[in-house]
Amino acid sequence: MTATLIDGAAIARELYADFKQRVKALASRGVRPGLAAILIGDNPVSEVYVRTKTRACAEVGVHSVEHRFGADCLEHEVIELIESLNANPVIHGILVQLPLPPRLDTGRILQTVDARKDVDGFNWNNLGALVAGHPRFSPCTPLGVVTMLDREKIAVEGSNAVVIGRSVIVGKPMALMLIARGATVTVCNSKTRELQEYTSRADIVVAAAGKPGLVKGSMLKPGAVVIDVGINRLPNGKLAGDVDFASASRVASRITPVPGGVGRMTVAMLIANTITAAERSIAKPYAARASR
Ligand code: NAD
Repeated sequence: MTATLIDGAAIARELYADFKQRVKALASRGVRPGLAAILIGDNPVSEVYVRTKTRACAEVGVHSVEHRFGADCLEHEVIELIESLNANPVIHGILVQLPLPPRLDTGRILQTVDARKDVDGFNWNNLGALVAGHPRFSPCTPLGVVTMLDREKIAVEGSNAVVIGRSVIVGKPMALMLIARGATVTVCNSKTRELQEYTSRADIVVAAAGKPGLVKGSMLKPGAVVIDVGINRLPNGKLAGDVDFASASRVASRITPVPGGVGRMTVAMLIANTITAAERSIAKPYAARASR
């Protein structure tokens, strides 16, 4: 079997056309969605991610601002900025680019973001809502994956799905979203013995381990759908996913490339969440609560 590509870049392009319409509708009501990105330290990868996100904002007409801190900044300075952004009516979404320098308490900083502006979906209120089956803002990467599966009409209900990785950012919310769609989900982690035992029975494999080439074609069930979340920089400077594309694409029925797959969807979901936050900000119940 030779797998057909799931083209994240093409799906994202289609979504952007819809985003532009939503931004236009908001403009007619005097609202422009606004995203504030907070970048701490000088991690070159984070720099690239923030640049990509602000470029995407510009493309669809979302206002974006960047706030930068040196690696030696104090935690209370970051907290104070977030509190001022929470109160700023032109900012609808706040993004704290991870990872933060280890000195800083990432949990505390993320919990300071108002849940209504938490477009990354990392605030515990939003994660709790996802667990309870009433998602508000969901983490962008797994949300991008399920959006891809939905748009490609890939049957999730009744499938056996394996998620490799259990991070709060990707693996755990990914599992919850697949469960919500009726999949039977197994979540593997670095301590899992015989990963292949699980992957070889899976109709859908989502790889989010951060280990280049971890998933080989020989570990897959013929016809499986393979979603590669991994983004790994190889010593030669090239990007690689967690899936060995050459062997996996000979066994899978559908597969995402790296780059051009899940990464594009992640950025699209950030924009979607920011527009949603702006839409909710003018919906009546929100306005009533905010003015109390
Ligand atoms: P993480 O390091 O927080 O978590 C990795 C998880 O993988 C852990 O739960 C670990 O137990 C598990 N794991 C590691 N080795 C394993 C193995 N051999 N077998 C089974 N499980 C194993 O990473 P993360 O933040 O969840 O990111 C995972 C990958 O996804 C990274 O490559 C990251 O760059 C990428 N990522 C991509 C996007 C995107 O937009 N495409 C977004 C976020 C993260």
